[in-house]
Amino acid sequence: MAEMEGMRDPRDWATRQSDLAAQVPDLLRRLRGASIAWRERLAGVEPGQFGTVDSLADLPFMTKGELRAMQADATREQPLGGLQVAATRDLVQVISSSGTTGDPMFFGVTVADWTAWKRAVGSAFATAGIGRGSLTAHTTGMPMVAGGIAYADGIREAGGTLAWVGGQTMTRMVAMINRLGVNTLLGTASFATFFAEKCEAELGRPARELAVRTVIAGGEPGLGAPEIRERIADVWGATRVSEIMGLGDVLPVLWAECAEGHGMHFTAAPHVLVELIDPETGAHLPWEPGVTGEAVYTTIDREACPVVRFRSRDQLSVTGVACRCGRTTPTVRCIGRTDDMLIYKAMNVYPSAIRDIAMQVGGSAVGSLRVRKDSNDQVRFDDPIPLEIELAADDSEAARLAAEIAEAVRQELRVRVSPEVLAPGSIPLGEYKNALTYAKQ
Ligand SMILES: [Zn+2]
Repeated sequence: MAEMEGMRDPRDWATRQSDLAAQVPDLLRRLRGASIAWRERLAGVEPGQFGTVDSLADLPFMTKGELRAMQADATREQPLGGLQVAATRDLVQVISSSGTTGDPMFFGVTVADWTAWKRAVGSAFATAGIGRGSLTAHTTGMPMVAGGIAYADGIREAGGTLAWVGGQTMTRMVAMINRLGVNTLLGTASFATFFAEKCEAELGRPARELAVRTVIAGGEPGLGAPEIRERIADVWGATRVSEIMGLGDVLPVLWAECAEGHGMHFTAAPHVLVELIDPETGAHLPWEPGVTGEAVYTTIDREACPVVRFRSRDQLSVTGVACRCGRTTPTVRCIGRTDDMLIYKAMNVYPSAIRDIAMQVGGSAVGSLRVRKDSNDQVRFDDPIPLEIELAADDSEAARLAAEIAEAVRQELRVRVSPEVLAPGSIPLGEYKNALTYAKQ
């Protein structure tokens, strides 16, 4: 049912966007009266002027730092601070950001928010391949994050069978997916790879001999790269690998890939308005194939913790606007985060682009890789970018491959890297997040 809702909406994307923008004035009026923090944020804003997509360009952005600042004035009565615009007694759930740096942020969910999330996440999962007969392993062990209970609700809403195997030892997780005959796996891309290795180690036979045929992964850029998708499909013997993406600040799943496999559709359209902007100038960009920009989100009907023009820092590349599946929302790949971007001399580069080229050149010999920075804040590199790369090859072959990768990166990205070859397994693989940069302390 959730699937049909998204598929059968006959209106084109521009019309749907306009209809959502027309609801923004009411949202602004509601927020102005909702908390002191919102009254201050919207001082001088005339809600009636913002009823079209174009007019939104004049409305200020919100950043993660501003959300954090709004939460800083939390009180016993208002535990989520100025972000909270529903009474605490009306919250049915609190979720935490899964951010690995700094204090977590908390968001609230009312009954209406919960209902909207269930439908939207269900619609996203249906798009990604969950339906009746999908015995789905939910692999996170963190119920409180956006990818926790909200994903569990979404699996059931999409018609699937929830098997929440996360939160226990790997040995038990492997035993459960084996014994239950789980056919759908939900996790991050790096976890999907890591877990396949664990299955083989535990069971003494390849993961592809298990029943998993659909792998749904999100939580990090990466699955857009064909080499990573192929690797996941191969280790699991999967016939479908779908990418999803969401944000606890906005909605737990905003984008999900259909069976066509050409990118993720926007699946939160009735509840969230998305804009594509130039991260440098803030100007609107068109939803046209080949255009790259940052996603900015406005929650149209979120009651507890709404956001208006929230800058996601996610860099999207539009892959299509008219999909053969019949959905009218655009499809995208996430190519990185604006704040992951590195600058080599005058060239901008995403670590994910370097990884994609390394995997094209080195194929299955390439394991994990990461850029080594002098500090967490380092963005600029005047010398070749230090690149630690695992290569499964003997010394002379590995040295030749590393040189070939550096040359391909130079030619395609006009950026110089200085590869340091490591043995497979040298780079610690995060269970839930495989960062492509790290700072040497
Ligand atoms: Zn499609």
